[in-house]
Amino acid sequence: MAGGSELLIEEGQGEVRLVRVQGNGCVVLKQGSGFRLTPEQAAFIRIDGQAYRGDVEVFVNPLGTAVVVNELPIEEYLKGVVPLELGPKLFPYAEALSTQAIAARTFAVVHLGTRAGRGFDLYGDTRSQVYGGVAAEDPLSDQAINKTRGLVSTYRGEPIVSLYSSTCGGVTEAFDLIFRGEPIDYLKGGVTCFDQDSQYYSWKETIDLDEIQESLNRYAGVGRLVRLLPIAYGRSERTVEMEFVGSAGTKMLKGNDIRFALGLRSNLITDMDAVEGSDGYLRQIRVEGRGWGHGVGLCQMGAVDLARKGRTYDEILRHYYPGTAIAKWY
Ligand SMILES: [Zn+2]
Repeated sequence: MAGGSELLIEEGQGEVRLVRVQGNGCVVLKQGSGFRLTPEQAAFIRIDGQAYRGDVEVFVNPLGTAVVVNELPIEEYLKGVVPLELGPKLFPYAEALSTQAIAARTFAVVHLGTRAGRGFDLYGDTRSQVYGGVAAEDPLSDQAINKTRGLVSTYRGEPIVSLYSSTCGGVTEAFDLIFRGEPIDYLKGGVTCFDQDSQYYSWKETIDLDEIQESLNRYAGVGRLVRLLPIAYGRSERTVEMEFVGSAGTKMLKGNDIRFALGLRSNLITDMDAVEGSDGYLRQIRVEGRGWGHGVGLCQMGAVDLARKGRTYDEILRHYYPGTAIAKWY
């Protein structure tokens, strides 16, 4: 395929998807079929106008979904991830960017092979890590990636679950209380963090419940809300269990589902007032809170603060993932 060619993906009916390669007419793919595109030397393949390093595979996976996979070495993938997860223009701190590079590399390594049935390893968005291809790349994050080439965070010799989020709001939280898995030794939470400079350190929101009824239905499914009762708190004082009482029943939500249901930036709620309508249903909630994201593991704004204070990437990683080491994985 010549450099500069365009690949345009169109959704079709049922299990068949249309894929058009500009200049080469139209290819119709059926389930189980596909093709691979390899760019000529030093050229990039463009998908919907965006340039990507490496090869592109297009196929219909066993689930009947049309999949476009950008296949490339981890180090090249990271060039399109690190600057979107921690912006080098806003945060030009080498040690913070190196910290982000190692966390993102570890995340990628851990997920290799985990979605074999779907035909790829990682999503290109927040379901895995945000990936923007060539357009996202920045010399400062490239430097951080090159300097830490092959390095991952490990615990007892294995790459860790390197969760990270924007702003923990002062203290990190335990993995099992937010993600509801088994407890993880290096993700117990309670790590002190100085992220007051983050614009999301503290926030105030007035939420009209009419506007979030869809997410309430998806996560709670109790109809119109009558009452919200915080039940349990984590080490960072995040609300980790909350009872949702509604017109159609009562449901206990745990961990991340609480903030997803209410459309909040984080579970670290410091104050909440509910406004009741004349019909007895809640009309509005006024919430004050701290942080943005799940607050488990590495805090990106805290890493920026530590880097600014002269701490190195290994010190920062071991601060947020206590008991871990850094190892050369390849
Ligand atoms: Zn923090």
